[in-house]
Amino acid sequence: MANQHPQELDASGGVGHRPSRLREMSVQLIVDEVAASGSVSQSDLVRVTGLSRATVASVVTDLVTEGRLVLSAGPETVGRGRPPRLLSLGTAAGYVVAIDFGHAHLAVAIADRAGVLLHEENQVLDVDGSSTEVLQTAVDTIRRNAAALPTCQGRPAAVVMGVPGPIDIESGRLRSGTLLPGWVGSNPAEELGRLVGQRVWVENDANLGALGEMAYGAAQGVRDFLYVKVSSGIGAGVVVDGRIYRGSRGTAGEIGHVQVRDDGALCRCGSRGCLETLSSADSALGFLRQAHGEGLTFDDAMAIVRSADPGAVRLFNDMGMAIGKVVAAVCSNLDPQVIVVGGKMVDAEGPLLEGISTAVRRYTQPYVSSQLAVVAGTLGARAGLLGAVAEAVRHAHVR
Ligand SMILES: [Zn+2]
Repeated sequence: MANQHPQELDASGGVGHRPSRLREMSVQLIVDEVAASGSVSQSDLVRVTGLSRATVASVVTDLVTEGRLVLSAGPETVGRGRPPRLLSLGTAAGYVVAIDFGHAHLAVAIADRAGVLLHEENQVLDVDGSSTEVLQTAVDTIRRNAAALPTCQGRPAAVVMGVPGPIDIESGRLRSGTLLPGWVGSNPAEELGRLVGQRVWVENDANLGALGEMAYGAAQGVRDFLYVKVSSGIGAGVVVDGRIYRGSRGTAGEIGHVQVRDDGALCRCGSRGCLETLSSADSALGFLRQAHGEGLTFDDAMAIVRSADPGAVRLFNDMGMAIGKVVAAVCSNLDPQVIVVGGKMVDAEGPLLEGISTAVRRYTQPYVSSQLAVVAGTLGARAGLLGAVAEAVRHAHVR
């Protein structure tokens, strides 16, 4: 039996042989290296992959023929003879899909395997409704947009989906149905995977926000930080040594459900007095409607805050202080370099961020706060979607 498939040891493949596992691994290694470097010479590929010159030459020839890689002339170098020809990703290299669900929106991005965005679309959607309908809408959006992009034919190389709730990292199921009522009993990763014909990774929206700011935004180059998302709910992505810390069951960073008032309002999680009941966008709207009328929208509320209305500024500042007190406890435990604050309630110079910063300084030891920056994210509402792009590119590379 050992000799039944001798070609499996032949990394160069060959006419009449089915592609061997070794050959597939060589292809993956070379495509990943080209995706990571943008453009690279064939001799550099030999050096960084450790593959033989003959294997690299053979695989590159096939990939160029298939359109997955393209060869182009490198920059001229005076006195160094002919410049090396450089390889970059071709139009057939594949693509990745990122999906970001909020409680009331769906965002979809399609990117090439180097993470360059090809298309992005946002739509208003009642995500708290039936998961089956919501997932079908996502698939229809992906198919419509991929069909319009000539480089995005066939199945995506990886799909990452963000959802606004804690995820069981083993099963892909949502941990609490009370946080996303229409999704109770569903396994969104499995359901979406069946619809798109590809494995789907599902991730908490705050974790993706952290990954987005780390890949494209305010936390580039930072290894230890906390991303705090203040939106319809509150959550945090904890990044330790450059990686998301999920905890033993995937629920690390759920700071919105830390109890801050023993006799506070009932929370949708089933507890009461959670931070989220005091400081989220929903709770801000509830307070401001008492003064400005029931018809007040969230955009109206932000306009009132930005107009320096004393009551609204005080409200947002107090909310920031409440969030900052909980964040300070996390900082005392984890000692991060930076707190990046994102989500739709946050302005770079606004009272919410100021409140968080003040509380973090007040409730941590000076040796923690003196080295700790509290900044607004630079990606705004796109942080989660771009984090899903970064994560999809990573999964496409390590398959
Ligand atoms: Zn709660």
